[in-house]
Amino acid sequence: MKLGFTPEEERFRDEAAGWLSAQLDGPFKDVRGITSMSGLLERRMEWERALGQARWSCIGWPRQYGGRDATLAEQVIFAEEYARARAPWRIGHLGIELAGPTILAFGTQAQKDRFLLPIARGEEFWCQGYSEPNAGSDLANVRTRAVLVDGPDGGEWSLHGQKVWTSLAQFADWAFVVCRTEEGSRGHRGLSYLLVPMRQAGVTVRPIRQLTGEAEFSETFFADARTAAANVVGLPGEGWKVAMGTLAFERGVSTLGQQMSFRNELAAIVSAARGNGLIDDPLIRQRLAQAHIGLKLMRYSALRMLSNAQAGKLSNEAYTYKIFWASWRRTLGELAIDVLGPRGEVAAAPYEWDLPQQVFLGSRADTIYGGTNQIQRNIIAERALGLPKEPRGS
Ligand SMILES: Cc1cc2nc3c(=O)[nH]c(=O)nc-3n(C[C@H](O)[C@H](O)[C@H](O)COP(=O)(O)OP(=O)(O)OC[C@H]3O[C@@H](n4cnc5c(N)ncnc54)[C@H](O)[C@@H]3O)c2cc1C
Repeated sequence: MKLGFTPEEERFRDEAAGWLSAQLDGPFKDVRGITSMSGLLERRMEWERALGQARWSCIGWPRQYGGRDATLAEQVIFAEEYARARAPWRIGHLGIELAGPTILAFGTQAQKDRFLLPIARGEEFWCQGYSEPNAGSDLANVRTRAVLVDGPDGGEWSLHGQKVWTSLAQFADWAFVVCRTEEGSRGHRGLSYLLVPMRQAGVTVRPIRQLTGEAEFSETFFADARTAAANVVGLPGEGWKVAMGTLAFERGVSTLGQQMSFRNELAAIVSAARGNGLIDDPLIRQRLAQAHIGLKLMRYSALRMLSNAQAGKLSNEAYTYKIFWASWRRTLGELAIDVLGPRGEVAAAPYEWDLPQQVFLGSRADTIYGGTNQIQRNIIAERALGLPKEPRGS
Protein backbone atom coordinates (compact mmCIF):
# COMPACT_ATOMS: atom_id res chain seq x y z
CA MET A 1 0.00 0.00 0.00
CA LYS A 2 1.36 3.41 -0.86
CA LEU A 3 0.48 6.47 1.20
CA GLY A 4 2.07 9.18 -0.87
CA PHE A 5 2.63 10.36 -4.42
CA THR A 6 5.43 9.53 -6.88
CA PRO A 7 7.97 12.16 -8.07
CA GLU A 8 6.15 12.21 -11.40
CA GLU A 9 2.86 12.92 -9.66
CA GLU A 10 4.53 15.68 -7.65
CA ARG A 11 5.74 17.25 -10.93
CA PHE A 12 2.14 17.14 -12.14
CA ARG A 13 1.18 18.90 -8.89
CA ASP A 14 3.71 21.69 -9.58
CA GLU A 15 2.35 22.20 -13.08
CA ALA A 16 -1.26 22.40 -11.86
CA ALA A 17 -0.37 24.71 -8.96
CA GLY A 18 1.63 26.95 -11.30
CA TRP A 19 -1.24 27.36 -13.75
CA LEU A 20 -3.78 27.98 -11.01
CA SER A 21 -1.73 30.63 -9.24
CA ALA A 22 -0.89 32.43 -12.50
CA GLN A 23 -4.61 32.67 -13.31
CA LEU A 24 -5.86 33.49 -9.83
CA ASP A 25 -3.15 36.08 -9.15
CA GLY A 26 -3.75 37.49 -12.63
CA PRO A 27 -6.83 37.64 -14.89
CA PHE A 28 -9.14 35.78 -12.47
CA LYS A 29 -8.12 37.50 -9.24
CA ASP A 30 -11.72 38.58 -8.65
CA VAL A 31 -13.10 35.02 -8.44
CA ARG A 32 -10.51 33.72 -5.98
CA GLY A 33 -12.02 32.50 -2.73
CA ILE A 34 -15.68 32.44 -3.83
CA THR A 35 -17.21 29.61 -1.83
CA SER A 36 -20.86 30.44 -2.40
CA MET A 37 -22.88 29.46 -5.44
CA SER A 38 -24.16 32.76 -6.69
CA GLY A 39 -21.17 35.14 -6.44
CA LEU A 40 -19.89 36.67 -9.72
CA LEU A 41 -21.72 34.15 -11.84
CA GLU A 42 -20.77 35.47 -15.26
CA ARG A 43 -17.10 35.66 -14.33
CA ARG A 44 -17.20 32.12 -13.00
CA MET A 45 -18.65 30.93 -16.28
CA GLU A 46 -15.64 32.60 -17.95
CA TRP A 47 -13.45 30.80 -15.42
CA GLU A 48 -14.99 27.48 -16.49
CA ARG A 49 -14.16 28.32 -20.10
CA ALA A 50 -10.57 29.23 -19.17
CA LEU A 51 -10.17 25.90 -17.36
CA GLY A 52 -11.58 24.15 -20.42
CA GLN A 53 -9.27 25.92 -22.85
CA ALA A 54 -6.21 24.92 -20.81
CA ARG A 55 -7.58 21.35 -20.42
CA TRP A 56 -7.82 21.66 -16.65
CA SER A 57 -11.58 21.23 -16.54
CA CYS A 58 -12.16 17.48 -16.83
CA ILE A 59 -8.66 16.10 -16.56
CA GLY A 60 -9.76 12.48 -16.06
CA TRP A 61 -11.56 12.41 -19.41
CA PRO A 62 -9.95 11.17 -22.64
CA ARG A 63 -8.06 13.79 -24.64
CA GLN A 64 -10.50 13.63 -27.56
CA TYR A 65 -13.25 14.94 -25.25
CA GLY A 66 -11.21 17.77 -23.78
CA GLY A 67 -9.48 15.91 -20.95
CA ARG A 68 -5.94 14.77 -20.19
CA ASP A 69 -6.42 11.04 -19.54
CA ALA A 70 -5.32 11.83 -15.99
CA THR A 71 -5.04 8.99 -13.45
CA LEU A 72 -7.15 8.91 -10.28
CA ALA A 73 -4.14 10.11 -8.28
CA GLU A 74 -3.64 13.06 -10.65
CA GLN A 75 -7.33 13.94 -10.36
CA VAL A 76 -7.01 14.07 -6.59
CA ILE A 77 -3.82 16.11 -6.82
CA PHE A 78 -5.54 18.62 -9.09
CA ALA A 79 -8.55 18.86 -6.76
CA GLU A 80 -6.20 19.42 -3.82
CA GLU A 81 -4.32 22.17 -5.62
CA TYR A 82 -7.60 23.70 -6.79
CA ALA A 83 -8.73 24.09 -3.19
CA ARG A 84 -5.29 25.13 -1.95
CA ALA A 85 -5.30 27.96 -4.51
CA ARG A 86 -8.76 28.96 -3.22
CA ALA A 87 -10.13 28.70 -6.74
CA PRO A 88 -13.89 29.34 -6.92
CA TRP A 89 -16.63 26.81 -6.31
CA ARG A 90 -17.33 25.20 -9.70
CA ILE A 91 -20.66 25.89 -11.32
CA GLY A 92 -19.90 23.27 -13.95
CA HIS A 93 -19.81 20.62 -11.22
CA LEU A 94 -22.88 18.57 -12.25
CA GLY A 95 -21.82 18.28 -15.88
CA ILE A 96 -18.18 17.61 -15.09
CA GLU A 97 -18.57 15.18 -12.22
CA LEU A 98 -21.91 13.49 -13.00
CA ALA A 99 -23.37 13.95 -16.50
CA GLY A 100 -20.06 13.67 -18.35
CA PRO A 101 -18.74 10.53 -16.60
CA THR A 102 -22.19 8.90 -17.03
CA ILE A 103 -22.24 9.64 -20.77
CA LEU A 104 -18.66 8.37 -21.04
CA ALA A 105 -19.58 5.13 -19.28
CA PHE A 106 -23.06 4.45 -20.69
CA GLY A 107 -23.64 6.81 -23.64
CA THR A 108 -23.66 6.11 -27.37
CA GLN A 109 -20.85 7.40 -29.57
CA ALA A 110 -23.23 10.08 -30.91
CA GLN A 111 -24.02 11.21 -27.33
CA LYS A 112 -20.32 11.39 -26.47
CA ASP A 113 -19.65 13.44 -29.60
CA ARG A 114 -22.56 15.79 -28.93
CA PHE A 115 -22.29 16.40 -25.19
CA LEU A 116 -18.78 15.93 -23.81
CA LEU A 117 -16.79 18.72 -25.42
CA PRO A 118 -19.30 21.48 -24.54
CA ILE A 119 -19.11 20.33 -20.90
CA ALA A 120 -15.31 20.22 -20.90
CA ARG A 121 -15.14 23.66 -22.54
CA GLY A 122 -17.55 25.27 -20.07
CA GLU A 123 -20.04 26.01 -22.85
CA GLU A 124 -22.98 24.00 -21.49
CA PHE A 125 -24.06 23.58 -17.88
CA TRP A 126 -26.09 20.72 -16.40
CA CYS A 127 -28.43 19.83 -13.56
CA GLN A 128 -29.64 16.56 -12.02
CA GLY A 129 -33.34 15.68 -12.23
CA TYR A 130 -33.67 12.79 -9.80
CA SER A 131 -35.58 13.79 -6.65
CA GLU A 132 -39.32 14.39 -6.58
CA PRO A 133 -41.69 15.32 -3.75
CA ASN A 134 -42.26 11.58 -3.09
CA ALA A 135 -39.02 10.16 -4.40
CA GLY A 136 -35.85 11.08 -2.54
CA SER A 137 -34.19 8.19 -0.71
CA ASP A 138 -36.79 6.05 -2.42
CA LEU A 139 -35.72 7.19 -5.86
CA ALA A 140 -37.40 4.25 -7.59
CA ASN A 141 -40.73 5.88 -6.74
CA VAL A 142 -40.36 8.60 -9.43
CA ARG A 143 -43.60 9.63 -11.08
CA THR A 144 -42.33 11.97 -13.81
CA ARG A 145 -43.26 10.21 -17.01
CA ALA A 146 -42.21 10.41 -20.64
CA VAL A 147 -43.75 8.99 -23.81
CA LEU A 148 -42.45 8.84 -27.36
CA VAL A 149 -44.40 11.10 -29.72
CA ASP A 150 -43.99 12.06 -33.38
CA GLY A 151 -41.30 14.61 -34.06
CA PRO A 152 -38.25 15.33 -36.16
CA ASP A 153 -35.47 12.70 -36.50
CA GLY A 154 -37.46 9.64 -35.46
CA GLY A 155 -39.64 11.18 -32.77
CA GLU A 156 -39.31 12.91 -29.41
CA TRP A 157 -39.88 12.17 -25.74
CA SER A 158 -42.61 14.26 -24.16
CA LEU A 159 -42.14 14.69 -20.38
CA HIS A 160 -44.67 15.53 -17.67
CA GLY A 161 -44.02 15.78 -13.95
CA GLN A 162 -42.17 17.56 -11.18
CA LYS A 163 -38.66 17.37 -9.80
CA VAL A 164 -37.47 19.11 -6.64
CA TRP A 165 -34.15 20.17 -5.07
CA THR A 166 -32.70 20.50 -8.58
CA SER A 167 -29.35 22.19 -7.86
CA LEU A 168 -28.31 24.88 -10.34
CA ALA A 169 -31.42 24.28 -12.50
CA GLN A 170 -31.87 27.99 -13.11
CA PHE A 171 -28.46 28.21 -14.85
CA ALA A 172 -28.51 24.83 -16.58
CA ASP A 173 -28.73 24.22 -20.32
CA TRP A 174 -29.41 20.49 -19.90
CA ALA A 175 -30.76 18.10 -17.26
CA PHE A 176 -30.30 14.36 -16.85
CA VAL A 177 -33.72 13.16 -15.80
CA VAL A 178 -34.87 9.84 -14.35
CA CYS A 179 -38.45 9.25 -15.47
CA ARG A 180 -40.99 6.50 -16.03
CA THR A 181 -41.34 5.48 -19.67
CA GLU A 182 -43.31 2.25 -19.28
CA GLU A 183 -46.89 2.84 -18.27
CA GLY A 184 -47.99 0.82 -15.25
CA SER A 185 -44.41 -0.07 -14.27
CA ARG A 186 -43.31 0.20 -10.65
CA GLY A 187 -40.09 0.46 -8.69
CA HIS A 188 -36.85 0.53 -10.61
CA ARG A 189 -38.34 -1.23 -13.66
CA GLY A 190 -39.60 0.84 -16.57
CA LEU A 191 -37.47 3.92 -15.82
CA SER A 192 -35.35 5.72 -18.40
CA TYR A 193 -32.48 8.17 -18.17
CA LEU A 194 -33.16 11.10 -20.50
CA LEU A 195 -31.04 14.11 -21.44
CA VAL A 196 -33.41 17.07 -21.61
CA PRO A 197 -32.77 20.64 -22.79
CA MET A 198 -33.77 23.06 -20.03
CA ARG A 199 -34.29 26.19 -22.11
CA GLN A 200 -37.67 25.42 -23.65
CA ALA A 201 -41.32 26.34 -23.11
CA GLY A 202 -42.20 23.00 -21.46
CA VAL A 203 -39.76 23.51 -18.55
CA THR A 204 -40.48 25.85 -15.61
CA VAL A 205 -37.88 26.42 -12.92
CA ARG A 206 -38.93 27.88 -9.56
CA PRO A 207 -35.94 28.64 -7.29
CA ILE A 208 -36.17 27.71 -3.59
CA ARG A 209 -34.50 30.12 -1.20
CA GLN A 210 -32.40 28.42 1.49
CA LEU A 211 -31.30 29.51 4.95
CA THR A 212 -27.96 30.62 3.49
CA GLY A 213 -29.96 33.26 1.57
CA GLU A 214 -29.07 31.69 -1.76
CA ALA A 215 -31.37 29.74 -4.06
CA GLU A 216 -29.01 26.93 -4.94
CA PHE A 217 -31.78 24.57 -5.94
CA SER A 218 -35.23 24.76 -7.52
CA GLU A 219 -38.47 23.03 -8.21
CA THR A 220 -38.51 21.94 -11.87
CA PHE A 221 -41.77 21.35 -13.71
CA PHE A 222 -42.11 19.49 -17.01
CA ALA A 223 -45.30 20.10 -19.00
CA ASP A 224 -44.86 18.53 -22.43
CA ALA A 225 -41.12 19.23 -22.30
CA ARG A 226 -39.45 17.69 -25.34
CA THR A 227 -36.19 15.94 -26.08
CA ALA A 228 -35.05 13.93 -29.09
CA ALA A 229 -35.79 10.19 -29.07
CA ALA A 230 -32.04 9.53 -29.27
CA ASN A 231 -31.36 11.40 -25.99
CA VAL A 232 -31.87 8.33 -23.83
CA VAL A 233 -28.79 6.96 -22.07
CA GLY A 234 -28.82 3.16 -21.93
CA LEU A 235 -31.89 1.30 -23.13
CA PRO A 236 -35.39 2.75 -22.64
CA GLY A 237 -36.87 1.17 -19.51
CA GLU A 238 -33.42 0.29 -18.16
CA GLY A 239 -32.42 3.69 -16.81
CA TRP A 240 -32.05 2.50 -13.22
CA LYS A 241 -28.65 0.97 -13.92
CA VAL A 242 -27.47 4.25 -15.47
CA ALA A 243 -28.94 6.29 -12.59
CA MET A 244 -27.03 4.14 -10.07
CA GLY A 245 -23.86 4.60 -12.13
CA THR A 246 -24.23 8.38 -11.79
CA LEU A 247 -24.72 8.06 -8.02
CA ALA A 248 -21.52 6.03 -7.77
CA PHE A 249 -19.68 8.95 -9.42
CA GLU A 250 -21.42 11.38 -7.05
CA ARG A 251 -20.28 9.50 -3.95
CA GLY A 252 -16.84 8.48 -5.16
CA VAL A 253 -14.01 10.11 -7.03
CA SER A 254 -15.69 13.49 -7.34
CA THR A 255 -15.42 14.03 -3.58
CA LEU A 256 -11.90 12.75 -2.98
CA GLY A 257 -10.09 16.04 -3.40
CA GLN A 258 -12.40 18.15 -1.30
CA GLN A 259 -10.40 17.70 1.88
CA MET A 260 -8.30 20.65 0.87
CA SER A 261 -11.32 22.94 0.94
CA PHE A 262 -12.22 21.40 4.31
CA ARG A 263 -8.73 22.36 5.43
CA ASN A 264 -9.44 25.95 4.42
CA GLU A 265 -12.64 25.82 6.46
CA LEU A 266 -10.91 24.43 9.55
CA ALA A 267 -8.20 27.10 9.20
CA ALA A 268 -10.89 29.82 9.14
CA ILE A 269 -12.41 28.42 12.35
CA VAL A 270 -8.98 28.26 14.04
CA SER A 271 -8.39 31.84 12.99
CA ALA A 272 -11.78 32.91 14.46
CA ALA A 273 -10.86 31.11 17.72
CA ARG A 274 -7.53 32.94 17.83
CA GLY A 275 -9.36 36.21 17.22
CA ASN A 276 -11.76 35.89 20.16
CA GLY A 277 -9.49 34.06 22.61
CA LEU A 278 -11.39 30.75 22.52
CA ILE A 279 -8.24 29.11 21.23
CA ASP A 280 -7.23 28.88 24.92
CA ASP A 281 -10.45 27.11 25.94
CA PRO A 282 -9.49 23.45 26.62
CA LEU A 283 -12.76 22.04 25.24
CA ILE A 284 -12.57 24.08 22.04
CA ARG A 285 -8.91 23.06 21.65
CA GLN A 286 -9.90 19.44 21.99
CA ARG A 287 -12.63 19.75 19.35
CA LEU A 288 -10.26 21.56 16.98
CA ALA A 289 -7.74 18.76 17.45
CA GLN A 290 -10.44 16.15 16.76
CA ALA A 291 -11.38 17.98 13.58
CA HIS A 292 -7.74 18.00 12.51
CA ILE A 293 -7.43 14.26 13.23
CA GLY A 294 -10.61 13.57 11.22
CA LEU A 295 -9.18 15.48 8.29
CA LYS A 296 -5.96 13.46 8.42
CA LEU A 297 -7.95 10.21 8.57
CA MET A 298 -9.93 11.33 5.54
CA ARG A 299 -6.74 11.99 3.62
CA TYR A 300 -5.17 8.65 4.46
CA SER A 301 -8.43 6.85 3.65
CA ALA A 302 -8.51 8.60 0.28
CA LEU A 303 -4.92 7.62 -0.44
CA ARG A 304 -5.65 4.05 0.62
CA MET A 305 -8.67 3.93 -1.69
CA LEU A 306 -6.59 5.27 -4.54
CA SER A 307 -3.77 2.84 -4.05
CA ASN A 308 -6.28 -0.02 -3.98
CA ALA A 309 -8.21 1.27 -6.97
CA GLN A 310 -8.21 -1.22 -9.79
CA ALA A 311 -8.76 -0.27 -13.41
CA GLY A 312 -9.98 3.19 -12.44
CA LYS A 313 -12.69 1.81 -10.12
CA LEU A 314 -12.86 2.26 -6.36
CA SER A 315 -13.02 -0.68 -3.99
CA ASN A 316 -15.45 -1.53 -1.17
CA GLU A 317 -13.99 0.77 1.47
CA ALA A 318 -14.94 3.70 -0.79
CA TYR A 319 -18.54 3.15 0.33
CA THR A 320 -17.62 4.50 3.78
CA TYR A 321 -16.24 7.75 2.44
CA LYS A 322 -19.46 9.77 1.96
CA ILE A 323 -20.84 9.15 5.47
CA PHE A 324 -17.43 9.88 7.00
CA TRP A 325 -16.83 13.24 5.36
CA ALA A 326 -20.46 14.39 5.60
CA SER A 327 -20.65 13.62 9.34
CA TRP A 328 -17.21 15.12 9.95
CA ARG A 329 -18.19 18.36 8.22
CA ARG A 330 -21.50 18.65 10.06
CA THR A 331 -19.60 18.35 13.35
CA LEU A 332 -17.17 20.97 12.05
CA GLY A 333 -20.13 23.29 11.37
CA GLU A 334 -21.29 22.90 14.97
CA LEU A 335 -17.78 23.70 16.17
CA ALA A 336 -17.70 26.76 13.90
CA ILE A 337 -20.86 28.20 15.37
CA ASP A 338 -19.70 27.49 18.96
CA VAL A 339 -16.42 29.29 18.25
CA LEU A 340 -18.23 32.30 16.80
CA GLY A 341 -20.66 32.52 19.74
CA PRO A 342 -23.47 35.11 19.44
CA ARG A 343 -21.71 36.71 16.45
CA GLY A 344 -22.41 33.53 14.53
CA GLU A 345 -26.08 34.44 14.37
CA VAL A 346 -25.49 37.79 12.68
CA ALA A 347 -25.13 38.15 8.91
CA ALA A 348 -23.27 40.99 7.28
CA ALA A 349 -25.46 43.34 5.22
CA PRO A 350 -27.35 42.66 3.02
CA TYR A 351 -27.34 38.95 3.98
CA GLU A 352 -23.84 37.55 3.76
CA TRP A 353 -22.20 34.85 5.80
CA ASP A 354 -18.47 34.41 6.36
CA LEU A 355 -16.77 31.06 5.85
CA PRO A 356 -17.33 29.52 9.34
CA GLN A 357 -21.00 30.54 9.22
CA GLN A 358 -21.32 29.05 5.73
CA VAL A 359 -19.83 25.79 7.02
CA PHE A 360 -22.47 25.60 9.76
CA LEU A 361 -25.40 26.36 7.45
CA GLY A 362 -24.16 24.45 4.40
CA SER A 363 -23.02 21.31 6.22
CA ARG A 364 -26.60 20.56 7.30
CA ALA A 365 -27.19 19.44 3.71
CA ASP A 366 -24.10 17.22 3.44
CA THR A 367 -25.72 14.34 5.30
CA ILE A 368 -28.75 14.53 2.98
CA TYR A 369 -27.77 14.95 -0.67
CA GLY A 370 -26.03 12.18 -2.57
CA GLY A 371 -27.85 9.78 -0.22
CA THR A 372 -28.59 10.48 3.47
CA ASN A 373 -26.49 8.99 6.27
CA GLN A 374 -29.15 6.33 6.85
CA ILE A 375 -29.06 5.37 3.19
CA GLN A 376 -25.24 5.27 3.28
CA ARG A 377 -25.44 2.79 6.17
CA ASN A 378 -27.76 0.62 4.12
CA ILE A 379 -25.35 0.79 1.18
CA ILE A 380 -22.35 -0.14 3.33
CA ALA A 381 -24.29 -3.03 4.87
CA GLU A 382 -25.63 -4.42 1.62
CA ARG A 383 -22.97 -3.67 -0.97
CA ALA A 384 -19.71 -3.56 0.98
CA LEU A 385 -20.40 -6.06 3.79
CA GLY A 386 -22.84 -8.29 1.89
CA LEU A 387 -25.41 -8.30 4.72
CA PRO A 388 -29.03 -9.27 3.94
CA LYS A 389 -30.94 -6.65 1.99
CA GLU A 390 -33.31 -4.24 3.71
CA PRO A 391 -36.95 -5.38 3.22
CA ARG A 392 -38.50 -3.31 0.44
CA GLY A 393 -42.13 -2.82 -0.55
CA SER A 394 -43.47 -4.58 -3.63
C1 LIG B 1 -28.32 20.81 -0.90
C2 LIG B 1 -29.08 19.75 -1.62
C3 LIG B 1 -28.93 19.64 -2.99
C4 LIG B 1 -29.64 18.66 -3.69
N1 LIG B 1 -29.51 18.63 -5.06
C5 LIG B 1 -30.24 17.73 -5.76
C6 LIG B 1 -30.18 17.72 -7.20
O1 LIG B 1 -29.44 18.51 -7.83
N2 LIG B 1 -30.94 16.84 -7.88
C7 LIG B 1 -31.76 15.95 -7.24
O2 LIG B 1 -32.40 15.17 -7.91
N3 LIG B 1 -31.84 15.94 -5.86
C8 LIG B 1 -31.11 16.81 -5.13
N4 LIG B 1 -31.20 16.82 -3.74
C9 LIG B 1 -32.16 15.93 -3.10
C10 LIG B 1 -31.53 14.78 -2.33
O3 LIG B 1 -31.05 13.79 -3.20
C11 LIG B 1 -32.62 14.24 -1.39
O4 LIG B 1 -32.92 15.25 -0.45
C12 LIG B 1 -32.16 12.98 -0.66
O5 LIG B 1 -32.05 11.91 -1.55
C13 LIG B 1 -33.16 12.61 0.46
O6 LIG B 1 -34.44 12.53 -0.03
P1 LIG B 1 -35.66 13.33 0.68
O7 LIG B 1 -35.23 14.74 0.88
O8 LIG B 1 -36.88 13.08 -0.13
O9 LIG B 1 -35.80 12.68 2.10
P2 LIG B 1 -36.55 11.30 2.45
O10 LIG B 1 -36.14 10.27 1.47
O11 LIG B 1 -38.00 11.56 2.59
O12 LIG B 1 -35.92 10.94 3.84
C14 LIG B 1 -36.41 11.46 5.07
C15 LIG B 1 -35.66 10.77 6.21
O13 LIG B 1 -35.96 9.36 6.22
C16 LIG B 1 -34.77 8.58 6.19
N5 LIG B 1 -34.97 7.37 5.36
C17 LIG B 1 -35.57 7.31 4.16
N6 LIG B 1 -35.54 6.03 3.68
C18 LIG B 1 -34.88 5.28 4.61
C19 LIG B 1 -34.51 3.91 4.70
N7 LIG B 1 -34.81 3.06 3.71
N8 LIG B 1 -33.85 3.50 5.80
C20 LIG B 1 -33.54 4.37 6.80
N9 LIG B 1 -33.87 5.69 6.78
C21 LIG B 1 -34.52 6.15 5.69
C22 LIG B 1 -33.75 9.49 5.51
O14 LIG B 1 -32.43 9.13 5.86
C23 LIG B 1 -34.13 10.87 6.07
O15 LIG B 1 -33.58 11.05 7.35
C24 LIG B 1 -30.51 17.77 -3.01
C25 LIG B 1 -30.64 17.87 -1.62
C26 LIG B 1 -29.95 18.84 -0.93
C27 LIG B 1 -30.13 18.93 0.55
